[in-house]
Amino acid sequence: MSIDAVIFDWGGTLTPWHILDLKEQWLAYAQVYDPTDADSLADRLLTGEQARWSHQFATAGATGTGALENMFVEQGIDTSSERHLAALEAYLDAWNPHTYTDPDAVYVLETLRANGIKTAVLSNTMWPRNHHEWILQRDGVLHLFDYLLFTSETEGAKPHRSVFADVSYNLDVAPERCAFVGDRLFDDIHGAQSIGMRGIWVPHSKNIPAAESTDLGIVPDATLERLADVVDIVNGWNANI
Ligand SMILES: [Mg+2]
Repeated sequence: MSIDAVIFDWGGTLTPWHILDLKEQWLAYAQVYDPTDADSLADRLLTGEQARWSHQFATAGATGTGALENMFVEQGIDTSSERHLAALEAYLDAWNPHTYTDPDAVYVLETLRANGIKTAVLSNTMWPRNHHEWILQRDGVLHLFDYLLFTSETEGAKPHRSVFADVSYNLDVAPERCAFVGDRLFDDIHGAQSIGMRGIWVPHSKNIPAAESTDLGIVPDATLERLADVVDIVNGWNANI
């Protein structure tokens, strides 16, 4: 059966994995929102964020993390205030150096599309869609996707079947004809395989928190060395149907 769509994870896949201090990112927010209490606010936001990721993982994606907005409300932040909007901008700016798209992406996406293969992004994220789209636009790849799904907008998250099914439905390509490219064996590869997609693993991401990984004996259908390899892997499968 031919592969007619390739769906990409975002963090650690389209954007190479960076090890960074998450508290530093929240300090960028807190120093603008409440400079008198920045350290403690940054700690609370970091704890709130990690609790949401842990809950999402513990429920195998049946409940997602929700959007950042929900977490801010939970932490007593006035999300309609000017200082919140300025702080949110500072937070997202602090992330910018870590969000650059892999230089192989344009070649991969253009080649797949030239071969009649649809492309999509499916990302577990709390960030708003408009920020993700801004990043993809900045790096010249936004127009190379047929569909984008961000779990800040959905009830569930990877590895739950619901979000993989959503992408398959919206691309109008059956799961068996989709390949999923991702760096997390549980969220990405197991999730994709559980609905009948093929999983291509990006093995570069280091230090994925132990609380966010699991060993189910997951075996990817293919493992790449660099993102550009997606083209040869998919061409190889499509030559052997
Ligand atoms: Mg990832």
